[in-house]
Amino acid sequence: MTSTPVLYTRKNPFPAKLVENRRLNLTGSEKETRHYVFSLSGSGFAYDVGDSIGVFAQNDPELVDQILQALRFSGDESVTNKEGESFTIREGLLQNFQITQPSRQFLEAIAQRSEGTDELKELLQSDRTKELEHYLWGMEVIDFLIDRPSIRFTPQEFAATLRKLQPRLYSIASSLKAFPESVHLVIATVRYESHGRPRKGVASTYLAERVTPNSAVPIFVHVAKGFRLPQNPVTPIIMIGPGTGVAPFRAYLQERHATGAPGRNWLFFGEQRFKCDFFYQEEFEFFQKVGVLTRFSTAFSRDQAHKIYVQHRLLENSKDIYAWLEEGAHLYVCGDAARMAKDVDVALHQIVATEGGKTPEQAAEYIEALRKEKRYKKDVY
Ligand code: NAP
Repeated sequence: MTSTPVLYTRKNPFPAKLVENRRLNLTGSEKETRHYVFSLSGSGFAYDVGDSIGVFAQNDPELVDQILQALRFSGDESVTNKEGESFTIREGLLQNFQITQPSRQFLEAIAQRSEGTDELKELLQSDRTKELEHYLWGMEVIDFLIDRPSIRFTPQEFAATLRKLQPRLYSIASSLKAFPESVHLVIATVRYESHGRPRKGVASTYLAERVTPNSAVPIFVHVAKGFRLPQNPVTPIIMIGPGTGVAPFRAYLQERHATGAPGRNWLFFGEQRFKCDFFYQEEFEFFQKVGVLTRFSTAFSRDQAHKIYVQHRLLENSKDIYAWLEEGAHLYVCGDAARMAKDVDVALHQIVATEGGKTPEQAAEYIEALRKEKRYKKDVY
C-alpha cells in the first residue's frame, strides 16, 4: 500500500534543513548579504522561477529575555493567542508573536497605563498619523517597556496586545532544473542601531546566526504567477536587479540555460564595490561565456566619487533598451521599492521618450501598455 505524500503549505510548512549559509561579500565590504541553501529532499515542492519562499523565523532569545525581565515575568507563565493555542510566554515571545515593531493595540495599552500627559497618548488620540510615524521610527516594543518601568501587565494582557509573527518572503534564487533537490536564497542581514540600541532583523539574523547546521526551518512556497519568465522561450528579457534584487534573475538564467531557451537575456546588476560585493561573479561570467547572458551591465556605486546606479547604465544603453522593447522584450525589476524601482521607472520613461521620439504623456502610455501586456513586471520590497 502506498501512502499519500504530505502536502506542505503555509499552514503545514516543510521543515527544511539549512545546508549552506555563506557570506557573499568579501573583506572590505560594508554589507552582509548571505547565500542560503535549503535541502528540499522529501518536500515534494515544485516551484517555478519567480516564486518566493516563506520562512517562519524565531525571534532573538536575547530580546525575549530583555522583554521578560522588563515585565518581571519568569517566562513560564501560560498565555493563549487569538487562535486559542496555549504556551508559555517565553515560547510565545520566541515563535508566536511579533515582538519588534509595536502594534497599535500595544501602543494603546502603553498609553492607557502611562501616568499624566504623555506624547504617545496625545499622538494616538488625535489624527496625527505622520507625527506618530515619526515618533515611532526605530522604536521597538522593548523601548516602551524600558522607558516606562512602572507600567504593569499580566502575561495574558501583554500577549493580547501583540500581533502574530508573520513569515518572511524571499525570492527564490535557483532553478529546480539546475538544483533539483534544493532551493537557494539571497538575503541581506539587517542590523542597525536606533535610540542607542542595536537592532536585528528578525528573519535575516535568525538565518544568519541562530539556525545551526542541519537544523530545520519551516518553509513553504509562495507562488508568484505575475513574476514568471515569458511563456515563449524566444522572447528576450531585460532584468534589473541590484543588491538582493538579483535573486530571481540568477534563477531565470539557470532556467533558461537548463532548458536551452534561445531568447536573449540582459542583466543589470548593481552593488557597492566591484572587489567585494560582486555576488555570483563567476556564475554570471559563465553564463556570458556560454551565451545565455547576452548582455551584462554592472553599476558599482562606491567605486568612484560619484554614485553610479543601474538606472545610469540603463540611460547609457538607451538606444538598445528601446530596440529590445520594440522587439517584444519583457522587462523585470526586483529589489528596493523605496528608491531604486522609482528611479528606474523614471529612467525608462526618459528612454522611451528620447528613443521613441515621444512626448512625456506618450512615453507614459507606452510604459502603461507594457504593464498591461504583462511585459513590465516588478517584485520590489
Ligand atoms: P541595496 O541597499 O538596494 O543596494 C544595492 C545597490 O543599489 C547599491 O549599490 C546601492 O548603492 C544601490 N542604490 C542605492 N540607491 C539606489 C537607487 N535609488 N537606485 C538604484 N540603485 C540604488 O541592496 P540590498 O542589500 O538588496 O538591500 C537590502 C534591503 O534593504 C532591501 O529590502 C532594501 O529595500 C532595503 N534598503 C532599505 C533602505 C532604507 O533606507 N530603508 C536603504 C537601502 C536598502 P549605495 O548603497 O552606494 O547607495
